[in-house]
Order: sequence, then structure tokens, then C-alpha cells
Amino acid sequence: MLKPSIFSQTQAELNLFLRLNDVSTQLSSIIFQQIYKNKFNQELSNSLSLLLKKTFDYSVPVINKITTSEDGTIKFLMGLEDGNQVETVLIPFFKKYTVCLSSQVGCAMNCSFCYTGKMGLKRNLKSSEIVGQFLVARQYLQSQSDERVKNPNIVFMGQGEPLHNSDEVLKSIQVLMEPMGAAVGPRQITLSTAGYLPGIKKLSHYPQINIALSLHSPFNDIRKRLIPINQHFPLEDIFFEFDKLDLKKKQFITYEYLLIKDLNNRSEDALELSKWLTNRRALINIIPFNPFPGSEFQRPTEEDTLEFKEKLVALKLRTMIRTTKGSEILAACGQLNSLIEQEFPV
Ligand code: SF4
Repeated sequence: MLKPSIFSQTQAELNLFLRLNDVSTQLSSIIFQQIYKNKFNQELSNSLSLLLKKTFDYSVPVINKITTSEDGTIKFLMGLEDGNQVETVLIPFFKKYTVCLSSQVGCAMNCSFCYTGKMGLKRNLKSSEIVGQFLVARQYLQSQSDERVKNPNIVFMGQGEPLHNSDEVLKSIQVLMEPMGAAVGPRQITLSTAGYLPGIKKLSHYPQINIALSLHSPFNDIRKRLIPINQHFPLEDIFFEFDKLDLKKKQFITYEYLLIKDLNNRSEDALELSKWLTNRRALINIIPFNPFPGSEFQRPTEEDTLEFKEKLVALKLRTMIRTTKGSEILAACGQLNSLIEQEFPV
């Protein structure tokens, strides 16, 4: 029988396991510190160590390939137990790293601007495989003695639509947030969705992490060309659900706006965006499109990007331009594809 992964256990679940085996639940904190913080101040008894090893699987994804970009972005091709592979990216930003985690092998959403969408969906990742990506990437930084390793932020922007695998993603977040374990804070975690409505309806069960929507166009007809699920889940329905979320003071929803040459950078786009976002707590993140082999779209010029930002700012919309990292190693937004990585290593 397959053993459950130790990395899919919350502390409450581990406590239950210990109680059922007549072991003090106080030891769960020591176990968590050993696993997630590499702290070995207190030893576990041999019998408990054996019991844990006999009951739980301790394996994590293995690094099959590492590619580093000139700007310091590190892309990992990680092998899973069944032979599938996913990509995980470490993005440096000032004194910190952000770990970009995958939630699925491939993706079912088939967004036309995205390399991952071309893979189709192979399978969902288990929560332990998501937690494992984080641990392996952090371990890599520790092995490089990188000072910026402390408390990396997390974004669910790798392969897959995280809300299409909502239960496992939620579980991974709960495990990563355990105070005795990795202790990642909710505001250090950002989940980005293409607008998968059944998953958005479950967001109220999540801790108060940051939410981002891949908006890309304020017009449903253009948006559904970019994100095909928009034909089932139009913007009206997405905003209806977002408006029900209990945002904390100063909390925003980030709207990612992939800026594509000659497609969505017109004045009417800016005006329509302001109709949707003016009375909402919104932060717009403009991402100049990152081309990939065979993509039908083109990247806008820097002037076009700045001009569009100015149009939004003039409409009093809070707007930023996201610096592209790792594009030359296909590690930037929308460029991940672990099948092509297997066949044509970059
Ligand atoms: S952009 Fe996100 S949701 Fe769309 S195909 Fe790519 S990975 Fe999937």
C-alpha cells in the first residue's frame, strides 16, 4: 500500500496520528522543526523515528535540470515519482527570492499566450509535491549559502491553474503556513487564477493570502480569445464572486494584464478597465508579453508599455509594470513547458 507523504500532513493531522499511537502530541512540534527548519536540538526516540519512517513517505521531487538566467532567475525541472516533470522557478527580487510553484503537470485551460497551455493537462499535483517543490528550491539556495534564502515568498504562477486543483493547493498552503514548520505567512503567498469560477467560489475557505487574476482584457470577447474558459466564466461572474471576498484593510486584488502588441493596449481598453476597477480595491500589474517558440503574439515596445501605464494612471488606477525575469531561459510568465524541456533542453 502507498504510504501517505509526511509533507501532506498538517500539525493537527500529525497530532492525531501521534495520539492514535500513544505518543505525546508535544513531539509534533519537534518533528515539524526537524523537517521544515532543519533544527535538531531535541532527538526523537528510535521507536518514534522508526514508526514515522514506516508510516510516512519522505520523498520529495528530484532536480533533473537547473537553468540559470543572467538576471539570477533559476529554473528547476523537477522529476516526480511517476516520471512526470514540472518546472519550479526561483526569482530574485532585492534581498529575497520568490518561489514560483507549479500546481499541475501541464494545464487544461489552454490560454493562447501560454506555453504550458500547449501541454494539455497531464495530472494534478498532490499537496506533498507542491510542498516538496518549495523545500527542494529552498534547500538548493541553502546549499549555495545564498543569504536571500530566508523566508522566500511563494507565488502559484507556475504550471497549471491552481484553482483547478483547489483542494491540494489549499492543503499545501495550510502545510506551508504551519508556525512550527515552514511558517510562511499568508501575505507572503500569492495565488494567481485565470478565472476558474468553481475554484474562485472556494476562495473563502482559504487563509487570507494574496489573490491575483489574469485579466488581460476588460472585454469578454477579446479575453476569451486569450483565456478560453472566459466563455464559460465571464468577467461579470468573476467580479460578482470577488466582491463577496472579505478583503482585509489595505488588501488588494492584483489584476495581471499581459500587454500584447496591437491587441489590448488601446485607449478604449484603458477606459473599459477603469469601468471595472475604479470602485474596487485593485492593483494592475502590466506584464509585457513574453514570446515563446511558435507564439502568435508579439511583445509591445517599452514606449508602448509606458504609454499604456500612463493612460491607466491618468484614470487614477493603481498600476505597476512587472519587470520580466528569466525570459531568455523560458522561465518567465507563460513560458513554462516541462514537455519541451524534456525534448529540447534549453
Ligand atoms: S496561463 Fe495559467 S491557466 Fe492559462 S494555460 Fe497557462 S498555466 Fe494554464
